[in-house]
Amino acid sequence: MKKCMAANWKMFKTKKEAVDTVQQLEASIDSNLPSDREVLVFPPFTAISAVSDALSENSSIQLGGQNFYPASEGAYTGEISPEMLLDLNCTYALVGHSERRHVIKEFEEIISQKVDFGLQSGLKIILCIGETLEERNQGKLQEILQKQISVLQDLSEDNISARLDIAYEPVWAIGTGEVAGPGEIQEAHGMVRTLLQNVFPEEGEKIRILYGGSVKPDNTAEIISIDNVDGVLVGGASLYADKFSQIALAGS
Ligand code: PEP
Repeated sequence: MKKCMAANWKMFKTKKEAVDTVQQLEASIDSNLPSDREVLVFPPFTAISAVSDALSENSSIQLGGQNFYPASEGAYTGEISPEMLLDLNCTYALVGHSERRHVIKEFEEIISQKVDFGLQSGLKIILCIGETLEERNQGKLQEILQKQISVLQDLSEDNISARLDIAYEPVWAIGTGEVAGPGEIQEAHGMVRTLLQNVFPEEGEKIRILYGGSVKPDNTAEIISIDNVDGVLVGGASLYADKFSQIALAGS
């Protein structure tokens, strides 16, 4: 299984900044990326087209959308569809990122529709899950992960591991500089693995589980060596080509 090293640029970067960053990133990783790694970049919508045009034809960088609305087209002012992302050469999309859950107030009902519709449309989906500090302190880690993973229960198991990844991102570690410890990551990823196997008895073992939360060049190698950690989803440090290229190549 290839490790997935993903950059989430959130609401940062103009077109020019995004193109400059992806070109620097491509120059540093292209000839060095091991064949068992995959690199994804999630630019803001306004820069996807320019970033796509700037990548070389056989680039090792794949693109994704940070969000979409679960319909092909229609009167949904301000939204964009999976087809529009595919049209810009995106292969992936994020669903359920903590900032969409906690700032935009998206919960299981719409998250479930997005996972289902995005997969049907041909996008690969990274479903983001994770507990708040309050939930962790109340001993609710397993309960929360189970609820967040329950949106997968009606999906067909057919080849699902090639189309779906999970990103475990404890909310208290996102953008805070606070990284979950190796023991905490191992425990949570083990729980996620078991929950995935309950939903998908055959494929659950093969679905990648990425860790996210203040990943940096100097902690990546250790994080990706933990059991059931199949990559990283990086926010802040991914905005800098030099930092993210070190992350993408860490430990290789
Ligand atoms: C994220 O945006 O998914 C994330 C993990 O952010 P950061 O790396 O900044 O914590």
